[in-house]
Amino acid sequence: MQKTVIVVGSINVDLVVKVGRLPRSGETVIGGAFARVHGGKGGNQASAARALGARTRMIAMVGDDDLGRDALSDLQGRGIDVSGIGTVDTPTGVAAIVVDEEGENLIAVASGANAELSPDRVNAALIAAEDAQAVMLTNLEISLDAVDAAAKFASERAWSSVLNLAPSRDLPIDMLSRFDVVIANQYEIEAPVGIGRLLEAGVDCVIVTRGVSGADLYRPDRGALHQDAFRVDSVDTTGAGDAFCGAFCSALSERLPLEGALQTAAAAGALATRAVGARGSLADANEVAAMIAKANTDQR
Ligand code: ADP
Repeated sequence: MQKTVIVVGSINVDLVVKVGRLPRSGETVIGGAFARVHGGKGGNQASAARALGARTRMIAMVGDDDLGRDALSDLQGRGIDVSGIGTVDTPTGVAAIVVDEEGENLIAVASGANAELSPDRVNAALIAAEDAQAVMLTNLEISLDAVDAAAKFASERAWSSVLNLAPSRDLPIDMLSRFDVVIANQYEIEAPVGIGRLLEAGVDCVIVTRGVSGADLYRPDRGALHQDAFRVDSVDTTGAGDAFCGAFCSALSERLPLEGALQTAAAAGALATRAVGARGSLADANEVAAMIAKANTDQR
């Protein structure tokens, strides 16, 4: 039986203004173009897992407002089970993003409803879902208490649990040790956490993503396993990490070994950079398989 990918995480709506150059403090820059896109690491990761065909459930919070309803209908339209997404009076999470022509950006996030995702709420949604077997994926755009509740639930049921250490925060060591896999990019993994500290804490596997330089998988008492980045015509790398995490969990839900899951994740990460936005070009299973097959042929 296929395992469910359960994403306990954030939902944001990104309000993006593209301008010629970034404003300085107190300055107004006019002449920009506006776009409203669905975001939040949780929503992006669930979308990536679902695009690969995984049965996917999201546990999250949105506000009782137009942005929240829109976010829910986007996730539902992708075939994600949204029954574990609650609605509160606090506004839906919003990221205000200003981006210039070189892709440099300024981002301010109002967590809003995401901060209302309590441990009780996480537990209630997980119990109600009655999943027999699952892979749990969570990230740090929600409260640490909610992250911990998800990890404890997964550990009690002997489900695989994956933490995307983003945005980077210092976490209590006993909390980190509950996760089987921790995924972080090369900047997030530096201070305050570190690969060695994670492995010493009892995490089975740490994966560091390195953009065009691919990704490395570390396990205790074994050499690092390197995965090259797949070659694509990249347009926008926003959300590559989210696609990587969602795809990795989708592969685990199909019982792929870590090496195969790493390869799937790297292919999905590369394919996600083909279009603008975190959900603009999420890969399906055929595209990932074709990319891996082509890389294998090219190597021969
Ligand atoms: P984040 O988005 O969290 O900063 P990365 O930029 O490290 O994460 O991207 C995650 C993964 O996606 C990388 O490990 C790599 O496999 C893939 N990837 C990212 N950018 C590219 C790119 N330009 N070309 C090919 N693969 C990429």
